[in-house]
Amino acid sequence: MPATLFEKLTVTLKSIFDKLHRDTAMPQQPADFNSWYLHAKLPQIRYIALVTTMLYLIYSVAEYHVLPDYHVKRFLLHGMLVPATMASVGILTHFPRHHRAMLWLLVLAPIAANSVNIYLNFDAGLFSYFSPEIYLSIMWTFAISGLRLRHALVSAACSCLVISIPMFTSQLPAAFVQLHLMWLFSAFSFGFVSALVLEKVHYNLYQKQMELALLASRDPLTQLWNRQKMATLFTQEKQAANVHQAMSLIMIDIDHFKSVNDEFGHEAGDIVLQHFARLLENNVRKQDHVGRFGGEEFVIILPNTSGGEALTVAHKLQQAINQYDFPTVGRKTASMGVTEAVHRHEPLATMMHRADCTLYQAKEQGRNRVLFADIGVSPA
Ligand code: GH3
Ligand code: MG
Ligand code: MG
Repeated sequence: MPATLFEKLTVTLKSIFDKLHRDTAMPQQPADFNSWYLHAKLPQIRYIALVTTMLYLIYSVAEYHVLPDYHVKRFLLHGMLVPATMASVGILTHFPRHHRAMLWLLVLAPIAANSVNIYLNFDAGLFSYFSPEIYLSIMWTFAISGLRLRHALVSAACSCLVISIPMFTSQLPAAFVQLHLMWLFSAFSFGFVSALVLEKVHYNLYQKQMELALLASRDPLTQLWNRQKMATLFTQEKQAANVHQAMSLIMIDIDHFKSVNDEFGHEAGDIVLQHFARLLENNVRKQDHVGRFGGEEFVIILPNTSGGEALTVAHKLQQAINQYDFPTVGRKTASMGVTEAVHRHEPLATMMHRADCTLYQAKEQGRNRVLFADIGVSPA
């Protein structure tokens, strides 16, 4: 049965929504608090931008009907400029490349709204009618907009400046000016304190999330990366690499490890694994990633490294292992399978499979040896 127009429309809208959602999804490991906070706040910024746009449109219609002057200017500024700015903010939340511009607009929007307010109403003798908009905009900047404290502070301070200057040059009654400044100061204080508390809460949340993420990506015994984290690191390295950069992998298995447990006990075996982990970490380069893949099996991802270079690293490791005295147990050996990615998009699973087959051959050939994977060894 042919799809109806409605079904086609639904599918198209869904694909657009999915794309937008992908673009703004939280990165797996945000680089810093700034980007974490921005991603946490994007939905808030988006919906507040929508609500503010709608409210300003309603406001401009109400203004048109109740006020006698500046009809065209009010419509252009309150009915078009502010809603257009806020609508742009909402749209830009969907485009990560333009988030900086979005933040700028969000900082400028309340300053613009307050300037417009002063410009349109200051001489009208009805200024007090419009003061609530000013106080609300200060609170909005700090606690509702989704801006970070420092950005909100700059924006609200500029707004206050714009609002205060005419107060000192006006013919308004002194009592009104005093009360107005008092309420302005109150709005600023409440807003500042809520933004400060919110930011502190968010920072604690960010730190806890980072701690949990770290906990979830480490092997508890050796503190090396676990399997899932290694898969993530592999993908990240692949994305960061350019076309000419190679990527290699070393798989390592301690020889006759079962006998350690049998002869010296499980605890001694655990200590050997911990020492072995430090030994690996201390004998690879800073950019290499060492992980424990279970039992006495370890994997090292070597970004921007050819197979030949990885083989050199593996031989250096073998030498370090052979010369190391493990507590209680003494000397141990290990077997290694080394491989290089056959092409830029080769998945981790096929590289692992090749390295594993080669490791098996190293075991077969008598252990304590390093073998380089024959590219012809294809995955099962
Ligand atoms: P091969 O040279 O063929 O690799 O022999 P192997 O004895 O090292 O290999 P095998 O797979 O037969 O045994 C692995 C042993 O590793 C068995 C298991 O008890 C031990 N093992 C796995 N995980 C841990 C761990 O977390 N702590 C300790 N102490 N032992 C572990
Ligand atoms: Mg083993
Ligand atoms: Mg094993």
